[in-house]
Amino acid sequence: MSDPRRQVPRTDALLAELADEVGLHGQRAVKTAIHSAQQQVRAGAIPPARAAAEARAALRAGPRPVINATGVLVHTNLGRAPLSGPAREALRLAAGTTDVEFDLATGTRRRRGQDTLDALRAAVPDAGDVHVVNNNAAALLLCAVAIAGSRDIVISRGELVEIGDGFRIPDLLTSAGARLRGVGTTNRTTVRDYADAITGDTGFVLKVHPSNFQVTGFASTPSVAELAALRAPLVVDIGSGLLSPHPALPDEPDARTVLRDGATLVTASGDKLLGGPQAGLLLGDARLVERLRRHPIARALRVDKLTLAALGATLRGRSPVVDALEADTADLTRRAQEIAVALSGLGVDAEAVSSMAVVGGGGAPGVELPSAAVSLPERYAVALRLRAVVGRVEHGRCLLDLRTVPADDDSALIEAVSQCT
Ligand SMILES: *Cc1c(COP(=O)(O)O)cnc(C)c1O
Repeated sequence: MSDPRRQVPRTDALLAELADEVGLHGQRAVKTAIHSAQQQVRAGAIPPARAAAEARAALRAGPRPVINATGVLVHTNLGRAPLSGPAREALRLAAGTTDVEFDLATGTRRRRGQDTLDALRAAVPDAGDVHVVNNNAAALLLCAVAIAGSRDIVISRGELVEIGDGFRIPDLLTSAGARLRGVGTTNRTTVRDYADAITGDTGFVLKVHPSNFQVTGFASTPSVAELAALRAPLVVDIGSGLLSPHPALPDEPDARTVLRDGATLVTASGDKLLGGPQAGLLLGDARLVERLRRHPIARALRVDKLTLAALGATLRGRSPVVDALEADTADLTRRAQEIAVALSGLGVDAEAVSSMAVVGGGGAPGVELPSAAVSLPERYAVALRLRAVVGRVEHGRCLLDLRTVPADDDSALIEAVSQCT
């Protein structure tokens, strides 16, 4: 009988057959898929002729990596924040068994994700305690259930926000069993409006940051400090997850300032401006945080070891979102020029242009960040998308905005464009 291993298709033959996948997924991912298909052939799980199809299917099994050249820093449809190198490495390490709830020194159980929670506490020393749940919506749900119960949540009518994809914060809160007490009007709400609505049946006052829209003109709402002086706990949903003030985003609330101004609790997303994995952060009054943590619902909202690992690494390092936010416009312009020159040399109609990037659904509506882009004929938009590069179309041109592209991806960008011709 012949050695069955002889029948395993060769890596280079499979690579040639899957050449179109390399542009989409990168050589490394394709090779990984090929090796796993070869293993299955070796194990007799699939016939040799199925190997290429099996590798192709494996590559299609989940979200594919894309290059975000949209100029939208936190793009919800593209999975929000890209993780830092250390956060990716932390994910890889956490994929095995870990000490997530175990004290290696004493051999006993310890608080889940202790190291990550310590890092979060260190990042926001004004918080008495912290807790992490699945996302910001889960953080709000937990507050509604554990603090308000069936009592009132007092909220400005100007802050009854739709987050996206048809999901609305007021519906989330009422579905948890709380009663909403809308106060004020769409454009103006005063401290008096809140004060008049607070009764013995008030669970808490909720202030929600309008993170995806702006109301301009005859509009005003009380400050956090003014609301903190009222006779009810104050929960502030800051949305974006800025932990301390950022000079480029002067109007974006941050956890440190909001807590110093007297908020009882702050809720935020982990995967917007903080630049971490999907998560909901709860920071503030230690007794209240403990109550949230011990509530039965908390168990249904808890994060897995992968989230804790990536969040911890994000908090201890620097995130690509911050890199994008702080990138020097002159550097972006230089990169755009170099890419345009390289592409022109390949016969592509490419030029470097100035552009405007935005933070996106993650916060800071109305803030524009000067940027630089490579401008291509419009037809490239579709062709590039099929190679997992997402730009944007503006005035009949396809723009690849470099503020959201790590410099390491410039050569991949050039390669993808050159494959489109
Ligand atoms: C994004 C956002 C949410 C929802 O956060 P998720 O982490 O996506 O659940 C809630 N409130 C505000 C103000 C937001 O900006």
